[in-house]
Amino acid sequence: MILGSRNAEEIIMSTNHYDYLIVGSGLFGAVFAYEMKEKGKKCLVIEKRGHIGGNIYTEDVRGIHVHQYGAHIFHTANRDVWNYVNQFAVFNHYINSPVAVYEDKLYNLPFNMNTFYQLWGVKKPEEAKAVIAAQIADLDIGEPANLEEQALKLVGRDVYEKLIKGYTEKQWGRSCQELPAFIIRRLPLRFTYDNNYFNDPYQGIPNGGYTQMIEKMLAGTKVLTGISYKDFTASGGAVFDKILYTGMIDEFFDFSLGHLEYRSLRFATEVIPETDNLQGNAVVNYTERDIPYTRIIEHRHFDIASALKPGTGTVITKEYPADWKAGEEPYYPINDERNGALFVKYQELAKSRKDVIFGGRLGQYQYFNMDQVIEAALKTAKEQI
Ligand code: UDP
Repeated sequence: MILGSRNAEEIIMSTNHYDYLIVGSGLFGAVFAYEMKEKGKKCLVIEKRGHIGGNIYTEDVRGIHVHQYGAHIFHTANRDVWNYVNQFAVFNHYINSPVAVYEDKLYNLPFNMNTFYQLWGVKKPEEAKAVIAAQIADLDIGEPANLEEQALKLVGRDVYEKLIKGYTEKQWGRSCQELPAFIIRRLPLRFTYDNNYFNDPYQGIPNGGYTQMIEKMLAGTKVLTGISYKDFTASGGAVFDKILYTGMIDEFFDFSLGHLEYRSLRFATEVIPETDNLQGNAVVNYTERDIPYTRIIEHRHFDIASALKPGTGTVITKEYPADWKAGEEPYYPINDERNGALFVKYQELAKSRKDVIFGGRLGQYQYFNMDQVIEAALKTAKEQI
């Protein structure tokens, strides 16, 4: 049952004791709510946005499931997690194969033999390896200390300069020398002709969109949308034994130890009625520093099995990275040394609140993928029972 905030008072009056108050209806909150409901616990979910689903929320525009907060492609190597999500949705067989544009030329991603052929005309893996080795022969990189060293060590100077440096520096708003190496290790590097962006054996997008999947997880749990945690607690009334908090951990503690840093995004979505196929692919990355967006998503290509009629038009979203300021949406934690150390201090502080569990990208300050969120939420739920 999903209710607007105006119904908050009614709910509180009629049922005022909950085992858990769940703050945030994103994937972490929804999985936790489902697990707790299955174990007979009574939960109330509160959500500050006007809709459920957090950043995986999809909205129908002309029958196209638009990923309102950026492309979400589900992938996992964990069979249990794959079976778990398949309870709530039928997944299509979408395989993410983005292309990158650099100075008007197209390159396949992730970095693989197609990319190396496009860059250097090499056809054999040994030839590609030799080009990369020659490009970094003058460098002596041991354990990479930052993203730049890691990228150079893996793929050489051309790929770094054309496909990584500009994209990464606009995405994160800082130099590749100041960023952690692990970010670039998210991308596979292959010496085969394989454009699958992920190595995981299970991949797809739920038919019907992610919102329907979250609705199924939250079925039978009371959800109030359009109300923040602060406003909810200030209104008093509901009694709960524990809180699952999936918002920003530093905000929960009123930033008392200082601000953690986040990276934000701005999405510009356009309906283009004149064509059913603008760019021929769901995701096109723009890797030059001077182009202000990182990628353009054409949503209908996520929905490969859809029965979209010709003439439906198309919907695209340009994704602009942005500095994060208080009051804006935080999308990515910035897992560098300073923020890591501050987060540890917040974790210490969190021990003083035995009644509160912190979960998700913002509560745990981790660059989680969706499957990792589910793993973490299931683990948390198990610990509670
Ligand atoms: N990246 C890049 N060039 C690309 C795509 C990605 O250099 O064309 C780098 C960039 O540093 C980015 C990281 O790889 O932050 C991880 O990319 P991913 O697609 O996993 O990012 P997400 O989808 O989580 O934003």
